[in-house]
Amino acid sequence: MVTTRTPLMAGNWKMNFNHLQAIAFVQKLAWTLKDAGHDYEEVEAAVFPPFTDIRSVQTIVDADKLKLGYGAQDLSQHDSGAYTGDVSGEFLAQLGAKYVLVGHSERRTLHDETDEVCRAKVNAAVRHGLVPVLCVGESLEQRESLEDPASVSVEQLKAGLADVQAGAEVVIAYEPVWAIGTGEVATSEQAQEVCASIRRAVSELLGEEAAANVRILYGGSVKPGNVASIMREPDIDGALVGGASLSVEDFSSIIRYRSHVGV
Ligand code: PEP
Repeated sequence: MVTTRTPLMAGNWKMNFNHLQAIAFVQKLAWTLKDAGHDYEEVEAAVFPPFTDIRSVQTIVDADKLKLGYGAQDLSQHDSGAYTGDVSGEFLAQLGAKYVLVGHSERRTLHDETDEVCRAKVNAAVRHGLVPVLCVGESLEQRESLEDPASVSVEQLKAGLADVQAGAEVVIAYEPVWAIGTGEVATSEQAQEVCASIRRAVSELLGEEAAANVRILYGGSVKPGNVASIMREPDIDGALVGGASLSVEDFSSIIRYRSHVGV
């Protein structure tokens, strides 16, 4: 099956940058990419700011007609009502957000988000026309103790996508928990092995075409120096980047991985 999966470089800012800093960052990133002649049709780029920045990012993207995408780091599984502190997917869609992260390991561990909650959040995202970026991945203990560490991601994937129909756009981010924010990146082979298992699981769940089209990102200590080798793997279609997405220089270099020497 011939596929054309456009790579996606996604910057998860976590709880960094207020709305003024977000505006300055987005402008500088856009200028840097423009100066470098970046083609967003070849490699898509998106930022995931805190909720309080999204309106500002929307304003600058619209005003300057930027091709940079943006999304949220979380959403409520509910649409409206008495859910203090939660944010509806409907509100995010109205702010022009294209993507929303679901089940990032920090949400799973710090906010006790279960697979059941992730499934409800994926459904809420799809309901509101947002593309869920479902994050899956094993802990260090699981990597060391399980015969098949990929099974953790596969089980999380099956639970998260249980209600999704074959035609819906979803993105999967394989993020081994032990590699997030630690500086310890998975080897390209380790990342490829799990991403291939994820793609096989998507095929079983949603069919061959969906599996051929779904973009699978790797996340965990991606930097300008290691992105190119990760991106050479056949089942890796981009990166979810935390720390390095807070630097214009680093994030633009990651987005421009194709221009790195030897790639
Ligand atoms: C992340 O938070 O999704 C992440 C991958 O972080 P880092 O790149 O800093 O490891």
